[in-house]
Amino acid sequence: MISGTIPAIRPDADPLDAGLLADVVAGAVRLTPEQSLRIYNEMPIQELGRWADARCRAIHGDQLRTYVIDRNINYTNICTAKCTFCAFRRDGHEDDAYTLEVEEILQKIRELVDIGGTQILMQGGMNPELPLSWYENLLGSIHDAFPQVHVHAFSPPEFIEFIDFFDPPGSTLEEQLRWVMTRLKAAGLHTVPGGGGEIFADPVRRKIGLGKCDAEAWLTTMRVAHELGMNTSATMMFGHIEGVADRVHHMELVRAWQDRSIADFGADGGGKYMAFISWPFQRENTPLGRCREWGDHPDDDLDATFPGDVVAQLDGQGQRDAHPEFGRRVRLAGASDYLRTQALSRLHLDNIHSIGASWVTMGPHIGQVALTWGASDMGSVMMEENVVSAAGTTYCLSEPLLCHLIREAGFTPAQRNNAYEILKTHDGPASPDLSVTDWSTLRAQRLHVENDKGCDSVVDVTVGGCVQQAESPSA
Ligand code: SF4
Repeated sequence: MISGTIPAIRPDADPLDAGLLADVVAGAVRLTPEQSLRIYNEMPIQELGRWADARCRAIHGDQLRTYVIDRNINYTNICTAKCTFCAFRRDGHEDDAYTLEVEEILQKIRELVDIGGTQILMQGGMNPELPLSWYENLLGSIHDAFPQVHVHAFSPPEFIEFIDFFDPPGSTLEEQLRWVMTRLKAAGLHTVPGGGGEIFADPVRRKIGLGKCDAEAWLTTMRVAHELGMNTSATMMFGHIEGVADRVHHMELVRAWQDRSIADFGADGGGKYMAFISWPFQRENTPLGRCREWGDHPDDDLDATFPGDVVAQLDGQGQRDAHPEFGRRVRLAGASDYLRTQALSRLHLDNIHSIGASWVTMGPHIGQVALTWGASDMGSVMMEENVVSAAGTTYCLSEPLLCHLIREAGFTPAQRNNAYEILKTHDGPASPDLSVTDWSTLRAQRLHVENDKGCDSVVDVTVGGCVQQAESPSA
């Protein structure tokens, strides 16, 4: 378990030293950003995986690894922001712009409940046409029809835009956020997802998150949610223009603000970050994806430092003009970079309960491997996903196949709720995977296909239910 005590630091210790890492695994010592950066850059990958796995086992034990059954509902794709990594957003006048009717959303939840689902993850674009009363009516309708369903909704960038759209009373951002969040919580909001985290460092954020809130506003939103007793998650999307130090800086901010929330609100029933989920950028159909990959051009000097690493600083204060190609070249993350980053997050984020595996973008088998690289959770049994799948390859798994992957990795699959409490432990013959006699119809599916116009589209996967990760980058 995560203890409430902040571990000591030993900044002068060699981070590759087994003695220091044994103390990190035990939760007695925390890594400094400098130590984490050295671990990322210098530790052999298998060794990093073994330490992350040891830390995961110290927190979660050797037996259970979890998943949740929920549905990802993107209530609108109309968005005032223009994130360069996004293939989902639309302007209000575009033909395929949409905002779901309340009854359509209720029907989606009905289908979720029919397959044993327990929560919805509801995020959207930032749609200036929707008043506060629309959200209150939506949440009230969900609560009236499905009081048992947990509503995990509206990421920090959406809340920051709500301030702009609704002009709530208050003279500070905190006061205005508190006013809006209190109204939405009273209407039926339970917890806040960590969408829109991307990379916190300002030089990166200002290049890729056009029109989206800065890190301070993102973190302040979550702090107000914690003050009001709502748990949240944190996310990171990497493998684009950022440097590795930016990833460490991002983790460090999450850890520091978690410390503050626990210290300030923990004794009074406050909320906190329950999970951290990171995934690599998916480039298809996005403006950012049209940037040339580092090393792609014959003139590229592969011994030269990647522009993002030249700019990135552990304090987030890098200068954008430190490299002329910064923001113009991407370094996509493959499986080893993904596993290395996830493993580091398990070691650095000593005060976060769960690390989620991102198999949606990496594929089911890398997701399975991620369970022995620090991840304790395989995400969600979802029935649709629209945001990541608009930007490239995403996968869809049935609940039996997800349980099979967890078991094949050496663990017992367990269904959890949003608070990470175990609802069902699948250790008997009636388990979703152990009761399957014919696997031929239960293969992993691609959520995303190319249609006859050469454009990508989202496959309708609403029949039977699909497994997806719990968070997406939407808004
Ligand atoms: S990622 Fe979210 S905030 Fe950014 S453009 Fe897409 S829908 Fe809008």
